[in-house]
Amino acid sequence: MSILNDNFRLFRNAYLFGTVASKVKKYEREHPDRDLIRMDVGDVTLPLCPEIIKYMHRAVDDLSNSSTFMGYGPEYGYKWLRAEIADKIFEPIGIQISPDEVFVSDGANSDLGNIGDLFTPECRVALQDPSYPVYIDASLIDGRAGNPEGDEYSRLTYLDCTAENNFFPAIPEHHVDLIYLCSPNNPTGGALTRDTLAKWIDYARREKAVILYDAAYEAFIRSRDVAHSIYEIDGAREVAIEFRSFSKSAGFTGLRCGYCIVPFELKRNFKDGSEGSLNAMWKRRVCTKFNGPSYVSQRAALGALTKEAMEYSRMATDYYLKNAGVLRDSLSSACSVIAGGIDSPYVWAKAPDGMESWEFFDYLLANASVSCTPGSGFGNCGKGYIRFTGFNTAEKTLRAAEAISTAIARL
Ligand SMILES: *Cc1c(COP(=O)(O)O)cnc(C)c1O
Repeated sequence: MSILNDNFRLFRNAYLFGTVASKVKKYEREHPDRDLIRMDVGDVTLPLCPEIIKYMHRAVDDLSNSSTFMGYGPEYGYKWLRAEIADKIFEPIGIQISPDEVFVSDGANSDLGNIGDLFTPECRVALQDPSYPVYIDASLIDGRAGNPEGDEYSRLTYLDCTAENNFFPAIPEHHVDLIYLCSPNNPTGGALTRDTLAKWIDYARREKAVILYDAAYEAFIRSRDVAHSIYEIDGAREVAIEFRSFSKSAGFTGLRCGYCIVPFELKRNFKDGSEGSLNAMWKRRVCTKFNGPSYVSQRAALGALTKEAMEYSRMATDYYLKNAGVLRDSLSSACSVIAGGIDSPYVWAKAPDGMESWEFFDYLLANASVSCTPGSGFGNCGKGYIRFTGFNTAEKTLRAAEAISTAIARL
């Protein structure tokens, strides 16, 4: 008899984005006359840069010709892409990364979910609250979360991100082994400065913890004191794995390509005390369970690292940031707390009048024809908050901002 993984029964909440989508569908079915504005979507909307399209067309031609045809590539990505990532992403900010420390994948979400394979189930996990769902959900599947206790899990350490600490979590007072840090943060929009990050690295070195650093929104950083990579900080190579993606920077959410950096210096011990290299283990893990992203995606990613595409990325992220700024400005008087929208495409707002997240979601849907993402779906500290996205068009963002303000004023 095949016995199922009991950990799947620990999921309490329905998948957040699924619930939002079904409520939106229902509303559209019942109000076909109203023009709903989706301010919930955590997905880019601008098309790919023409230079990337050129690279893809050429890749398709390669595949259609027996002399240039490509079959299986290296499981962890082609060397020409890994070398270009080291050269174009890290070298310009003064960071030396070897191409053999770069592992190319189909996106950061898979890597963030799979990295747990390297660690024992006993490892204690810390994560920001609120947080992007994969950190908790993957910990749950891997058996690291413990038992549900109210809205939380007994073995997870929740790093509260609240208005009081300006959405920057405090360093834990006790030992943890794995720390998920997301900066710029989804959903709060908070971004970690180099000084703050240095303190996390000190903690990780002291506790021999590993920081799992999610930099998916790096392309949105505009503040000078915010770190673009955790490896800008001394000592990070011994404690951190960085996760990156072309999804939000170059519009690859549908195309799929991401990567992570596992430094050679990152080593920890097995139960018997012998030492293991995380780079070597991750390489083995990738070779066992993955065969690399498609050749076309990797050529597209190479195109995304050209000067033309990098300039396009800057233009696109500026556009999304401007939308987020419009929302932030127009809601700043209506909402008592408002964050994000500076180094992040997300705006994080407190619902007015002490409303619950879903209550405010329903209110905005019915009274402003605007959908958003309830903060409570990202964790306990998200209760009473709402996430708005800058990924809609400028015109719809303006209309949404006005409709939301009007609806709040009517409360
Ligand atoms: C979008 C996103 C990612 C990237 O996921 P991909 O699988 O690369 O598309 C990773 N982390 C966070 C927090 C995100 O919002």
